[in-house]
Amino acid sequence: MKPTHIEHIGIAVKDLQASIKFYENILGLKCYAVEEVQDQKVKTAFFKVGQTKIELLESTEPDGPIAKFIENKGEGIHHIAFAVDDVEASLKEMESKGVQLIDKQPRKGAEEMSIAFLHPKSTGGVLIELCE
Ligand code: ZN
Repeated sequence: MKPTHIEHIGIAVKDLQASIKFYENILGLKCYAVEEVQDQKVKTAFFKVGQTKIELLESTEPDGPIAKFIENKGEGIHHIAFAVDDVEASLKEMESKGVQLIDKQPRKGAEEMSIAFLHPKSTGGVLIELCE
């Protein structure tokens, strides 16, 4: 596997609209897309910073993974996404190297990307997303 760059950083927030205001009015970034990913029970907002994006994540359900994350750890950085050429091949490679996978197969994430998560137990506590 050879990640080419950090595709995005995922940040768990309680209130997407309030957070969008902070990123736009205080940090001076521009939100270019808001999208709901039903599969993951999240509403996302995207900002570009050079080649890398910031992905804000608000839970749409009280039992969604982002709601649970905030319950346990509070708001903050949720995951780091690396851009790779081939998510499926990368997953096979990670598995062969003993990395515990959350997704055995790539699935569809926001922005029509093919994504998969590695388990933080195998990655030093960081939830890593691979995306293509
Ligand atoms: Zn992500």
